[in-house]
Amino acid sequence: MATANRKLCAQRSVLVVNIMSSPGAGKTTILEKTILELKPRMTMAVIEGDLYTDWDARRIESTGVPVYQINTRGGCHLDARMVRDAFERLKLREIDTLFIENVGNLVCPAEFDLGEDFRVVVCTTTEGNDKPWKYPLMFQQARAILLNKMDLLSQTDFNVREFEKALSSINSEAKIFFVSGRTGQGIDEWCRWLEEEVHKKKIACS
Ligand code: MG
Ligand code: ZN
Repeated sequence: MATANRKLCAQRSVLVVNIMSSPGAGKTTILEKTILELKPRMTMAVIEGDLYTDWDARRIESTGVPVYQINTRGGCHLDARMVRDAFERLKLREIDTLFIENVGNLVCPAEFDLGEDFRVVVCTTTEGNDKPWKYPLMFQQARAILLNKMDLLSQTDFNVREFEKALSSINSEAKIFFVSGRTGQGIDEWCRWLEEEVHKKKIACS
């Protein structure tokens, strides 16, 4: 099913980004900021995965992009079939980038291929800098890491160098962006990178 999803999105030349993190890392806030930054330059849509509630979906909706809500009813990850159902409700041909906000969980979402182009993991300075060691699968498979809550760094014992060291021992290719969903720090750099990825995908699909 994931392979079929990937093929369909290649035919429609949609870049699909699977965003994962622990609960409360700021996925939705970063998405809001990202959408507002990129809206003048590309079309986007969001698949919102949550256990219950549509609060995050409503937040995204207020940015004006199409949102499809998946409630997993207690399920702790999204799977390719759920994403396929969402595709039927989205106009893929009109979308440059489709973000999938996965369920907040650093464990099993890593085991489920949704058919995405790549994965992004959001970490925070308010968590331990040892997260890459503790959840290696999640970090091994990420193309990019957003280290969020940089505005709080001075209030924590988070060691950026140790974090980078841990990450590079597990995944030396991953790109790191230092961001704050709250202040908007680093969002422009992340968005520029994302735009390049969209561009590369368009060329690959044409
Ligand atoms: Mg959320
Ligand atoms: Zn699960």
